[in-house]
Amino acid sequence: MAQGELKSSVLNRKRNPKSPVASRSSKKQKIAEHRKSLPIASGAKEERLIEAVQKNDILIIVGETGSGKTTQLPQFLFNAGFCREGKMVGITQPRRIAALTIAKRVAEECDVPLGQKVGYSVRFDDTTSSSTRLKYMTDGFLLREALVDRLLSRYSVIIIDEAHERTVHTDVLLALLKKVQRERSEIGGVLRGCQGRKVSPLKLIIMSASLDARVFCDYYGGAKDFHVEGRQFDVDIFYTVHPQTDYVDAALNTIFQIHSEEEEGDILVFLTGQEEIESVERLVQEKFQHLPEDERKLLPLAIFSSLPSEQQMRVFAPAPIGFRKVVLATNIAETSITIPGIRYVVDSGVVKARTYDPNKGMETLDVVPVSKAQAIQRSGRAGREGYGKSFHLYPERDFWKLEDSTKPEIKRCNLSNVILQLKALGIDDILGFDFIDKPSRSAIVKALAELHLLGALTDDCKLAKPAGEQMARLPLEPVYSRALILANQFNCLEEMLITVAMLSVESIFYDPRQKREEARTSRNHFVSVEGDHLTYLSVYRELDEFLEERKAEKSEAKVEKIMRKWCKDNFVNSRSLKHARDIYRQIRGNVEQMGFNVSSCGNDMLEYRRCLAASFFLKAAQRQMDGTYRALESGEIVHIHPSSVLFRSKPECVIFDELMQTSQKYINNLTRIDPLWLAELAPHHYKTEE
Ligand code: ADP
Ligand code: MG
Repeated sequence: MAQGELKSSVLNRKRNPKSPVASRSSKKQKIAEHRKSLPIASGAKEERLIEAVQKNDILIIVGETGSGKTTQLPQFLFNAGFCREGKMVGITQPRRIAALTIAKRVAEECDVPLGQKVGYSVRFDDTTSSSTRLKYMTDGFLLREALVDRLLSRYSVIIIDEAHERTVHTDVLLALLKKVQRERSEIGGVLRGCQGRKVSPLKLIIMSASLDARVFCDYYGGAKDFHVEGRQFDVDIFYTVHPQTDYVDAALNTIFQIHSEEEEGDILVFLTGQEEIESVERLVQEKFQHLPEDERKLLPLAIFSSLPSEQQMRVFAPAPIGFRKVVLATNIAETSITIPGIRYVVDSGVVKARTYDPNKGMETLDVVPVSKAQAIQRSGRAGREGYGKSFHLYPERDFWKLEDSTKPEIKRCNLSNVILQLKALGIDDILGFDFIDKPSRSAIVKALAELHLLGALTDDCKLAKPAGEQMARLPLEPVYSRALILANQFNCLEEMLITVAMLSVESIFYDPRQKREEARTSRNHFVSVEGDHLTYLSVYRELDEFLEERKAEKSEAKVEKIMRKWCKDNFVNSRSLKHARDIYRQIRGNVEQMGFNVSSCGNDMLEYRRCLAASFFLKAAQRQMDGTYRALESGEIVHIHPSSVLFRSKPECVIFDELMQTSQKYINNLTRIDPLWLAELAPHHYKTEE
């Protein structure tokens, strides 16, 4: 049992009484009062902030969460006239859910419908219109926008929020915006940007938690910093007395302990990923059946990045009266977003981290300890609205052993996608590019070589036309973009769009612990002997046909209900499939915009598999005498992942989508191919044996 000792003194135990359901006008009044009470609204800070922005082209705003930076500063800038003449203030977030919920909140504060003055844009979902002035978006979205409008001429101010998270897109933006700012001030007023707009100087604001802010000031040559104090209520911190062998079990016990012993207030639990969250969700429900009836008032809700947005939004709604929300989250809920009602935090102390090894072309997905900064952020979530408690499922001495902060993503990810974007932005000298933290030379060289082999770059490393341009324009990993471009030639674009959509989501099948055999049998009719890609294709198609037969159902809610039932009956993860259907629609729109005609190969699956081989030739593996596989590109010895439909049949040669090290080196999402196809379809890489 994760029982803790009290570590911090309790200074303020007063709780805010629950307010009754507010009518529209009292809600407005409440919002106005709330805004006035934020630290950023006190002591003439608005005037001082605006003055600092006016005087400095680059401003670093440092502060802890809860002061009102993200929601208020853009509104201050609007009021100070930064959005005149159709100009916009753009605010980037590392995560799409943050862009979405914050834009909603700010629209509400401004009392306007979302998508007008205030909107958000994230990959596959854009709510902005020509009247949008405050635009919240992901950092990746802004980077993509720069491909169309190099000078980002519609923006008067760009705010890079949560810069300390150091996502790869944030890092690239930090460098790119430095360049854009210089170019805009050099040509200011002389040239015209996108669509003939006059180019005015660009103001740049970087917002960061205090721990890591120094690095930004230094990077921008001693830029001015502005400190805003946070608003944080007291949080009691608890640690376990002993290390826990099973944090999932410990988390579960802690949830029920809080539920039975603590006053009202919702619980936020930090776990590592979708499968774990879904299993805890079920365990909570199971355990809950054994409680006395009047105590069965727990409402488990999941939030993780691959969950469709509408479902992510459920955690933000208040729990029904008398119920306690238990939000089961990945590190997605660590910063930027505010989940109303949270008073208790349970921190597993771990996070799933992806690391890419460019030499082996291999990703490692490991559950690793969080950093100190992350653990502190996590406990801070309990003190956003009032006094709270945070339970860490490890002893205090282990906290002190944690790393201070997390390594920037650019140092540990596959760079081919961002390098392709930089090339498309006309930045040719990648090795000399002014990154805040330079990726290793070998990682850059490897990514350039990969892009060249995929046909995105010419022999002298320039963007290839049109393939490289098209690949840069699609919001996908280069290898998926290549697959779509080739599928257009192989006449199987329809099938490849479905494939890419299905590969973009996690866990298509759902494996309940008690019904494993039943799940396997029921799934058999989807399974293709050719591999996982074709299996996914038939899952997608069968659902499509099923829904087509019930086309008469007009209401979206009904359709969703039918879909959920179908998924449940077939042991398919309905969240994942819904997400895949959304992605399909979006990328279909993208390729149609590029002038592609979406045709299907019907039953000619040979062409489809050949197209997969032509696209994924860098990810091919051949069976060895001992039944293991050798990845042809890196020479790594790998195993077929047990969840692949080819796990037992072990064909001679396969292409794969993932090469990942967990307990072993696994390849997953496979299709059987003829080894001779490699030399035929990728002759620039594979020689025919003489
Ligand atoms: P910061 O960026 O400084 O961390 P924010 O501007 O995001 O702060 O939020 C300030 C305060 O506004 C939060 O502490 C919370 O009380 C309130 N708030 C922000 N977003 C929401 C939301 N979606 N729903 C309810 N309250 C919110
Ligand atoms: Mg913020």
